Amino acid sequence: MAACFDVAVAGGGPAGAFAARELARAGIRTILIDPATTRPRLEGLGERVAHILRQKELEDALQAASAPMRRSVRWAGLNETANGERLVRRHDFDAALRKAALEAGVAVRTTRLRRIEQADLETGVALSLADGETITARLLIDARGRQAPSANRQKGPKTLAIAGRLSGPVPHSGTHVEATPQGWTWSAAEPDFGPWLQICIDADDLSGAGQAALAERMRAFLAQTQFDNRFDACGFEGDLLARPAGLVLSAPELPLPVLPIGDAAVAIDPLSGHGLFWAISSALAAVPSVTTLLEGGDPDLATRFYRHRVVGTFWRQARIGRDFYRLETDLAVHPFWAARAAWPDNEPAHATAGDIRLVQRVIVDGNRLREREVLITPQDPEGVAFVCGLPVSDLLDLSRTGSAPAEALRWLESRGLPSGLPDQPQKATENQTRMRETA
Ligand SMILES: Cc1cc2nc3c(=O)[nH]c(=O)nc-3n(C[C@H](O)[C@H](O)[C@H](O)COP(=O)(O)OP(=O)(O)OC[C@H]3O[C@@H](n4cnc5c(N)ncnc54)[C@H](O)[C@@H]3O)c2cc1C
Repeated sequence: MAACFDVAVAGGGPAGAFAARELARAGIRTILIDPATTRPRLEGLGERVAHILRQKELEDALQAASAPMRRSVRWAGLNETANGERLVRRHDFDAALRKAALEAGVAVRTTRLRRIEQADLETGVALSLADGETITARLLIDARGRQAPSANRQKGPKTLAIAGRLSGPVPHSGTHVEATPQGWTWSAAEPDFGPWLQICIDADDLSGAGQAALAERMRAFLAQTQFDNRFDACGFEGDLLARPAGLVLSAPELPLPVLPIGDAAVAIDPLSGHGLFWAISSALAAVPSVTTLLEGGDPDLATRFYRHRVVGTFWRQARIGRDFYRLETDLAVHPFWAARAAWPDNEPAHATAGDIRLVQRVIVDGNRLREREVLITPQDPEGVAFVCGLPVSDLLDLSRTGSAPAEALRWLESRGLPSGLPDQPQKATENQTRMRETA
């Protein structure tokens, strides 16, 4: 007989393990399926992720990351050091998150999802696992990362990352990002892991296959004149790791009862250092949709709420990435830079100064999804539904009559709206969705 759950989560990377734990903590019967095969590697982890981990009492996962390190940058004529990032040992991090999920009551299976045998909003999903077990659940969260299948992908230029553990020291302290004609590089050294070097190149710029081709491509990259023989003394320990690293939108439509999260929904260019934040924040955003669906709520509301966030993240990250590549005007003639500076379009990445409006959106209000008016401003591109506990549309009415509470009025002033919206609010009828944001 098939084991039966409310939610099955396929993939126990950061997105899946975090989502499974959140669902179990909300009293939802959850199973997590993951083969536990994360390859040892280093990535950067920003303070926003560290903050969420602390808030969620995931100190053990944070132990897999170093203290924040300084980051030096050689990009677009800048040669500077800025506030940096923590270095996270991904294999330890993922294992700690899966352990935390288990401790929260998630049933964990160390195997792969082999096939989705059936998926239907009425009857739920039936899954066959590689170890022969069959699972049924009302919903499936797909957190299989870039390996998740998708019938309808939207993609940016194809980027390939090649990375490995250096046998010699990296020639800098902290982390280092550098632009070169052939692409860009990120290098770092973490005391418990050692030095790590990653290059990002055009995927079509690799000829041949296997470790020999990767080593040859790495050698050619590091032989570029701008490195001044800096890496001549360095070799690599063990195999090089090659991974696709371009921006991908895999879930433009959400095929309920399957809800993709993390890289399975939007896989982000590592240049942004936003991937882990998205993995965890998309897991958090999926929870109210799951609760709504399990309680028999409106599937349309759940879909619109989540889809808006997924699609919005894809376009925002695409344009932010484009603007970073555009900064490198000296390298613009090289094909790697020309392709990425031109994609996806010329639209601004963020709302512009004049973009202030009230729109109708699906938000989370007291753990429930509801449709409400939100105020979009350049500082609040995601929209604000409540300010100091007041619905934002009520606050705008109060400010017109001079009776807004002092604290809420200060918030309006910080948005340049001391007397509400200048004209009659433009009430757009976008069928779009946002998370609740409070001032
Ligand atoms: C080269 C590179 C460098 C990066 N650097 C950074 C960085 O510095 N900072 C940052 O924030 N982000 C970085 N990212 C992005 C970050 O790695 C991802 O955004 C993040 O791992 C996404 O988490 P996830 O859980 O969605 O997917 P993943 O981490 O890919 O996890 C997917 C999980 O699903 C499992 N799985 C796959 N198939 C199946 C199956 N059939 N059944 C069950 N389980 C399955 C896998 O084993 C894995 O555990 C980088 C990405 C790349 C490619």
